[in-house]
Amino acid sequence: MNEALCPLLHACCVPVLGQRRALICDTQRGVLVEVPGALLRLLEEHRGLSLGAIGAASGHPEAVTAAIRRLVDEDLAFLTAHPERFPALDRSWRSPAPLLRAILERDAGSRWSLEAALAELAALRCRHVLIRTREPRPAVGAVMAAIGARHPLTVDWQLLDTAEDPAALLASWPKISSLVFHEADGVEASADGRARWTTAPLRLGAVAPASLAGMAVNVETVCEATHHHPFFNRMVTVSADGRLRNGPSTPQVFGRIGETAIAEVIASPAFRALWDAHRGRIEDCRGCAYRLVCTDGRALSLGEDGVFRAERGCALGG
Ligand code: SF4
Repeated sequence: MNEALCPLLHACCVPVLGQRRALICDTQRGVLVEVPGALLRLLEEHRGLSLGAIGAASGHPEAVTAAIRRLVDEDLAFLTAHPERFPALDRSWRSPAPLLRAILERDAGSRWSLEAALAELAALRCRHVLIRTREPRPAVGAVMAAIGARHPLTVDWQLLDTAEDPAALLASWPKISSLVFHEADGVEASADGRARWTTAPLRLGAVAPASLAGMAVNVETVCEATHHHPFFNRMVTVSADGRLRNGPSTPQVFGRIGETAIAEVIASPAFRALWDAHRGRIEDCRGCAYRLVCTDGRALSLGEDGVFRAERGCALGG
């Protein structure tokens, strides 16, 4: 390799140093690549310097050259004589929508109107809704018809069963991005993956622990997570009993659907506090290499020191 050239990570390959591991988040291919932390540190600290200069600064020029060659071979980095022409990814984040996501939980005892809640969300231009329901045989098609051409733009369903044909529902309602049947007899998926059957329980009022499968390796999440909590940001949850919360497992209640307007709830500074709880403000996440792609939604409490702490530990953290 020409030692006069400068090695740079592609702009879509975002480096993240953690306490236990270092990752490159390849947001174009949607994958995480584990790399030596010392190498990422060198590339960050000596950004814009030539390969020869970085090797000399490391004290191990041959090893550094070999490691950078691997990054180039894996198409994570490239060499250039003009590093100034290739700025790092702009990680600023903005959204015109007052609300991005909502979780609506239902069970057989839910007395609040799902259609009325969806109308409120549509007025707020909420982009994505997850409906999690333990109701027997919910009327999926009727709910989708009530949404029609309005917001949300996408709807995920988690349910136990339905009297309707899943394939016909997906064909009729392109807004359904997934239809996941929990507590099924076996594991199965439709050819396009939009309909899935799983033996996993459907637990309302709870969120799944962080997992590698749940990482969202894309530019939108990296930019949002740099400034905000990528699960709670611009999100509202309606519990099965109609209580309005930040997330399914967050204890603080901000009113009841049908009695308190969602617009009023999301304007409240107390409700918005979690929106800005980016991982750098969460005690056990700030040193984790997954912090820019992790969408974990554990409940958080804010200490007097301004640091958020999670309700329970994370086995994945790194
Ligand atoms: S420590 Fe935090 S950022 Fe890391 S995997 Fe766990 S929840 Fe996600």
